[in-house]
Amino acid sequence: QITIDKIAAGEVIERPASVVKELAENAIDAGATAVTVEIKEGGITFMRIADNGIGIDKEDVRAAFLRHSTSKIRSAEDLAHISSLGFRGEALSSIAAVSQVELLTKTKEAEFGVRYKIAGGKEESLEDAGAPDGTTFLIRQLFYNTPARRKFLKTAMTEASHVGDLVTRLALSHPEVSFRFINNGQVKLHTSGNGNLKDVIYHIYGREIASNLIEVDFERKGIHITGYLGKPLISRGNRNFENYFVDGRYIKSSIISKAIEDGYKDFTMQHKYPFVVLYLDVDTEHVDVNVHPTKMDVRFNNQQEIYNTLFAAVDDGLHEREL
Ligand code: ADP
Ligand code: MG
Repeated sequence: QITIDKIAAGEVIERPASVVKELAENAIDAGATAVTVEIKEGGITFMRIADNGIGIDKEDVRAAFLRHSTSKIRSAEDLAHISSLGFRGEALSSIAAVSQVELLTKTKEAEFGVRYKIAGGKEESLEDAGAPDGTTFLIRQLFYNTPARRKFLKTAMTEASHVGDLVTRLALSHPEVSFRFINNGQVKLHTSGNGNLKDVIYHIYGREIASNLIEVDFERKGIHITGYLGKPLISRGNRNFENYFVDGRYIKSSIISKAIEDGYKDFTMQHKYPFVVLYLDVDTEHVDVNVHPTKMDVRFNNQQEIYNTLFAAVDDGLHEREL
C-alpha cells in the first residue's frame, strides 16, 4: 500500500504548490471562509494550510488518508465522472506517502480536537488535543523519502513563487473566501473574503489596475462569461495577466488567449497582452472532462464556438464603453 501510494503521489504531487492546491481545495470543499497558507523555504521543508471549515471527526481521520477514500462522492454518476478523472480521494494518501504530516482538526460538535501524525505513509500517533474548529495541516520535508523526486524541485524562491501564483488564482476564483499567504514569516497576500472580485483584484494587483476595469456579463450558446476586462490602457508585456477560469478551474489555453487578445485589437495598447479576469461557465457538452485535473489544460469540443463567443464578449465589452 505504501509503495502504491508513493507511485500515485507522483501523479498528484509534483511540488509544494501541488500540496497547497490539494489542501486548499479541500479547505474550500469543507466550507471554510478563511484559509491560511504559510510556507518556509519554498514549502520544501514546511507548509501550513489552516482553515475554519467543518473539520474531520476523530473516527474519520484514519480513513481520510486511505487511497480512494473520499466523503465527496454522492451518486453513481459522480463516481463514474470522478473515476474517469483518475485520482479523487488520493490527495491525502499521496501527500502522506512523501512527507511528514501533522493534522490538527476539530468539528464544531466535538468536545476536543484531534492530532494525527503520519510520515511516509506510516501512522505515528492519533490523540486528543485542544484545537480551534477547523483543520490545520502541517507538512514537513516534502519528498524526504523520495530523493529522486526531491532533486527535481527548483530553488526555494521558484517554488515559493509557484505557491504564491496558486494562492493568487485561488483568491481570484473564490472572492468569498479570505486567503492569507505567508512566505518566510512575511504576509504576502491577505484578501478580505467579502465576495467582491474587484477587492480581490485590488489586493493582488493594486489600485491602478483595480480602478480601470470594465465589467463583463455575456451569454451565448451555453457559454456564460463574467468578470473584468482591464481598460486597454492597462496592458502588459506577457500573458501572465490574462487570468481565466473554465468552470472554476484556472487554465492556460492558446485559443482563449487569442480570442481575448483579438477582442482588444481595435484599441491601441502599449503591449498586445491585456489584463483580464474572466470566468467561463460552459455547458458540459462543450468540454471534454477527461483531461487530467492537475493539468492547466482543457479540451473544447468546438474551439471555434469558444473563440467566437469570447471574442464577442471582449469586443462588446470594450466598445460599449466608448473608450
Ligand atoms: P477528496 O478531496 O477527493 O475527497 P482527499 O484525499 O483530498 O480526497 O481528502 C480525503 C477526505 O478527507 C475528504 O473527502 C474529506 O472528507 C476529508 N478532508 C480533507 N481535508 C479536509 C479539510 N480541510 N476539512 C474537512 N475535511 C477534510
Ligand atoms: Mg481533495
